[in-house]
Order: sequence, then C-alpha cells, then structure tokens
Amino acid sequence: MRVVKFGGTSVGDPTRIVAACDIVAGKRAKGPVVVVVSAASKVTDMLLKAANAAAAGVVDAEPVVGRVRSLLDAFSLPHSLVEREVLALREALATVAKTGSLSLEHADLVASFGERFSVRTFAAVLSARGVTATAFDAFDVGMITDAQFGAAEPLSDSAARVRDALGVDGVAHAKDSVAVVTGFIGKTEDGRVTTLGRGGSDYSAALFGAAMRADEIEIWTDVDGVMTADPRVVRAARTIPVLSFTEAAELAYFGAKVLHPKTIHPAVRENIPVRVLNTFNPEGEGTVILEAGAPPDLEHPARAIASKKSITMVQVVSSRMLLAHGFLAKLFEVFARHRIAVDMVATSEVSVTLTVDRDDLLTPALNELRRIGDVQVVAGRSLVAIVGLGIGDALGIAGRVFSALARARVNIELISAGSGRANMSLVVADADADAAVRALHHAIFDERA
Ligand code: ADP
Ligand code: ASP
Ligand code: MG
Repeated sequence: MRVVKFGGTSVGDPTRIVAACDIVAGKRAKGPVVVVVSAASKVTDMLLKAANAAAAGVVDAEPVVGRVRSLLDAFSLPHSLVEREVLALREALATVAKTGSLSLEHADLVASFGERFSVRTFAAVLSARGVTATAFDAFDVGMITDAQFGAAEPLSDSAARVRDALGVDGVAHAKDSVAVVTGFIGKTEDGRVTTLGRGGSDYSAALFGAAMRADEIEIWTDVDGVMTADPRVVRAARTIPVLSFTEAAELAYFGAKVLHPKTIHPAVRENIPVRVLNTFNPEGEGTVILEAGAPPDLEHPARAIASKKSITMVQVVSSRMLLAHGFLAKLFEVFARHRIAVDMVATSEVSVTLTVDRDDLLTPALNELRRIGDVQVVAGRSLVAIVGLGIGDALGIAGRVFSALARARVNIELISAGSGRANMSLVVADADADAAVRALHHAIFDERA
C-alpha cells in the first residue's frame, strides 16, 4: 500500500489536477493507494487573509469561493459538491467578525476549508476519469489531535483509529474506491478543528502512511525531489538521489520547505521509505529517503544547504552566574516552560547566545530571562545549515565555509558544528542569507564537480 500526497501546486490548476489523477491511476493499477491532498495553491493564504479581515469586521469569502468554483467549472462539476463547506466557511467568518478578534482556534477552522474543498474536487475528478474515489476529512478517518491549535499533534491512539477507518490497504470504507483524504487538518476529541501547522500536509501523509504501515510514502510536489539547495535561490541546485532519514530531517528542520519538518518522524517509527517526486516530471527519479541513506562519502559529506529566515537571536550576559552550576538548566527551563524551541546555542565565559524561531512567544520569556542576566534580542536573522552525515568530522570543511562567506562579504554572527553531527550551522543577517547559500553551494558543490 502506498500513500500518495499532492501539494498545493499539484492540485492548483486543471492541468495539474489531471496530471495528478493520471499519477494516481497509474499507481492504483499496481496496488492499493490512499491519496492525501493539500489545499490548491494560495487558498490557505487567502483563507487566513479572509479570517483576519473578518476579525476587522469585513466578511468576504468570495475570492476563495470563486477560486474553488473555477476549478470545479473547469471539469464541469457542480458547485453543490462543496456547498456544505462553503456555507460552513461563511458561518465561520461571520463568527470571527462577531467576536472581533481571531483566535488560533478560529484561524484553524477557517484554514481547514482549503483541504476540505480540495479532497471533494480531486475525488470527483478522479472518479470522472475512471478511478472511483471517495473524499474524506481527515478527522472522519481517525485523525484526532490535541488542542494545540496551529501546531496540533495526533493523539497516541489516532494511528489505530486511522487503521480502523481506512484498513491496512486503505479500502476498508468501500472496496474498490480510493480514499482521498485531507492533509493538514484534524479535530480534537471534543470536535474542534485543528491544523498541524503551515505546510503540514506532508506530515499528514507520513502519519497516514505510518498508521497503515504503507510500503512507501510519496510526496508529489513542484520540483525534482530534495535538491542540494532551494532551486529558487540556487539555480544550479541538483536533485539528491538518496538521503538518510537523519539528513532529510535536518534539512527540513533547517528550512528546506520541500518537506515539513515533522514528516520524517512517523516514517522513521515504521521505517517507511519516503519518495519526493515532481508532478511536472512524473518520469523523474526524484529523491528516496531511507533509514541508511547513501553510503557516506568521507571526503565530501555535504548533501545540501538549507536556510531558515526570520529567526531571532537572544543573548544573555551574566558575569556573576554563567559558570555557576545549574545556570544553563535555569535558562533552558524558561524556554521550555514557554514552549519555545531553541535551535542553536553558543556559550562564552560570560554569555549564552541562542536562536529561536517563535518570537511571538518570546516577550513573557524575556521578562523572566532579565532576572537571570542582561538580555539582548536581535531579530531578522537567518539560520544557514550545511547538512550531511559526517560533516562534523570532515577535514577542511570549516575552512571552505569561512573563506566562501568572506569572499561573499557575509558576516557570520554565530556558528555551531561538532564531531558526529549531521550539520554545521551558522547565523547571518536575513539580507545576507541567499548570498550565503549561493556562496556555500558554489564552494561545496560546484567546485567539487
Ligand atoms: P507543496 O505545495 O508541494 O507542498 P512546497 O512549496 O511546500 O510544495 O515545497 C516545494 C518548494 O520547496 C519548492 O518549490 C522549492 O522552492 C522549495 N525548496 C526549498 N528547499 C528545497 C530543497 N532543498 N529541495 C527542493 N525544494 C526546496
Ligand atoms: N495548505 C496548507 C498550507 O498551505 C498545508 C500544506 O500545503 O501542506 O500550509
Ligand atoms: Mg509543502
């Protein structure tokens, strides 16, 4: 059994939807499949914009509804296919307008409609093209989550619920009908809609794949797999044929948007290969992500460069306490309690510098940190990571990194590397991030070739 996930661009216009349906038909001919789809491209952004406008008193679902209906029109499908969802969306926006502010819970509810429209359209087109399909909202087939709106996590029994609902071959609901399931969303046990976070459909696909113990999880997107850098930043980026789970997880964590950072965890748990493929080039080999990955190349361990923008650097200076026992524990306890993930840490005799990517949660934490030492906050930074198993042990890599960045006149504000590590990461100013990625890509990949 295979889980086949299509991202926003792959279900964003009629030509792409046909291409995606052909891909599903081809897979279906070879064995059972479960399809996971995202919202059509831009729809989630449009929904969140509508939700914010509603909070300011303007209720207008029409841009989204128009986009969704135009996709139905392209296939001569009736608008009634999504009418219930359109009404529910209008109602949700009206509720937000009445409340006068946008809670995380309401934002999730509004955002959920993108995927809910998408499954209905996709299943109808698939059926019309001869592959009988049924649309499902993920929460109706077992995706029950906690109540962390905007970053919900499935409850521990959700995998069993999914297995019950869809069966190990994905056809428990109806023999001979392909299940087309929403990515990105779930529901709490008491029935409130949640999302797994932006870009979360990849994570959904992996969760469904793990729950059903799929043979493979396929992520169909708009590029030829996981590449040596974001091809929008580095034109010369190349597809990486094989990656290990560890490398893929590091890359996703450090900003390679092609995979949501949580995607790899469920695949690791059940040891399921993840393949990243291009809907625009279905014959391409793409990237396969396996537990072991490719054999290590001790001389050239770097596999890719990723960057994560708009992070914040926090420096705590405390000449009195830094070397005292328990100082770091005290510091990290503050971040843990405020649920702020810390990415990178560097210490000196009197200071600790670290990076976080949730500055929306930072203010209350900063007030507590100020009791520990002098606190300085520097926003608008980027994390740049060179990823590859064995990178921390490669001779000469640091020298190449430093001279490449010096040549590009990029100042390194923080650095973290070490033996046994699968990444070397640096902090630079946001404005320097793309130049840093390009310079490193050139120094590490082009000069090697
Ligand atoms: P989808 O809608 O299919 O989920 P996304 O836009 O979320 O697609 O992810 C695909 C995009 O990720 C690509 O268009 C590319 O610009 C970006 N990307 C960033 N880093 C990488 C990388 N290392 N390899 C491939 N794509 C990357
Ligand atoms: N539609 C959601 C988003 O835009 C989830 C996804 O595309 O993976 O964030
Ligand atoms: Mg994505």
